Amino acid sequence: MAAKTLEDIPGVGPAIADKLREAGYTEIMNIAVAAPKDLAETCEIGEKKAMDIIEGAKLVADVGGFETGDTILQRRSSVTKLTTGSKALDELLGGGLESQAITEFFGEFGSCKTQVCFQLAVNATLPEDKGGLDSDVIMIDTENTFRPERIIQMANYLGLDPDATLKRIHIARAYNSQHQVLLVDKAMELAKDLKVRLLIVDSLTSHFRAEYLGRGALAERQQILNRHMHDLLSFATVNNAVIAVTNQVASKPDAFFGDPTKPIGGNIVGHTATFRIYLRKGKAGKRIARLIDSPNMPEGEAVFMVTEDGIKD
Ligand code: ADP
Ligand code: MG
Repeated sequence: MAAKTLEDIPGVGPAIADKLREAGYTEIMNIAVAAPKDLAETCEIGEKKAMDIIEGAKLVADVGGFETGDTILQRRSSVTKLTTGSKALDELLGGGLESQAITEFFGEFGSCKTQVCFQLAVNATLPEDKGGLDSDVIMIDTENTFRPERIIQMANYLGLDPDATLKRIHIARAYNSQHQVLLVDKAMELAKDLKVRLLIVDSLTSHFRAEYLGRGALAERQQILNRHMHDLLSFATVNNAVIAVTNQVASKPDAFFGDPTKPIGGNIVGHTATFRIYLRKGKAGKRIARLIDSPNMPEGEAVFMVTEDGIKD
C-alpha cells in the first residue's frame, strides 16, 4: 500500500525526517502520539518545533473513522469459512477458519502447527461447496519447513491433481523478521492479479523471538509485530481472506513472559488474532485443539488425527 512518509508531515524536511527515523520514529502515528519533550530531545530541536511537528503528524496520520453497524454487518455477510479437514475442529471454530480474520495456532514443537497449515493450503484450493475457497494460497515460511511431498499426499487423498495443487501454492521463505514484514506487501501485490484468499505465516514469531533478545528489545519487537499483524489484518479485509499464523510456545520459560504455555508476542498477537487455538499432543497420533478467546464461540476442545493423508477426525 502506498503509505504516507514522514516527509508528508508539514514542517518535516529530509534532514528532520532522517533524525526522526534514526530515533525510532518510523511511523507518522508514533509522532502524532509522541510527547513534545521526547521528540525535542531525541531530534535535537526546540520544543516549539517539536509541538508543531506533532500537530502536523496528527493532521496527516490515518487515524481511521467510525463505521455504522449495518456497514459492518454487510461486510461480515461476505465472510466464508475454510475447512480444516476435521469436522470436530471445524465445529469448534463455528464451521471452519473465518475469512477477514486472523487465526493463530500455537503449541509446542511437534504439535502439528505446520501440518495444519499444509492441510489448510490444500483445502483452500477446493471449491467453496467442499469447504474450500477456490483460491490460490500464499505461504510465508520462516522455518524452511514447507514440504511439497506432504501437499502431494494430502491432494491425492482429496482426489485433487497434486501438480495443479502445488502450482496454486506460492511459498516465500522469509530470512528475517524485516523480510517477513515486507513479504506481506509482496503478497498484497500478488493478490491484485490472483485470487488469494488464504495467507499463511508459519511461524509468525520465530524470527522475532530469535532477533529481539533481552528486555531492552521487547518494546521494539512488539511494535514491529503489531504493525505486521495489522498488515495481515488488512490483507484479510481487502481480499476477504483467511489468515492462519503459527506461534511456538516456549518449551522452557520465556524470558519475557515466564509462563511456558503462553505464546510469545504476548498481548499484541493475542489482541489482534481473532481466534487462538492451542494445539497439544494426545495419545497415538491424536492432537487436541483448544479454542481460546473467541469473540463469538464458546471455549472448548476438539480431537483430531494427523495421518499420512492429512488432518482427519
Ligand atoms: P510443529 O509445526 O507444530 O512443530 P509439525 O506440524 O511439523 O509440528 O508436526 C510434526 C508431526 O506431524 C510429526 O511429529 C508427526 O506426528 C506428524 N507428521 C508429519 N508427517 C506425517 C506423515 N507423513 N504422516 C503422519 N504424520 C505425520
Ligand atoms: Mg512447524
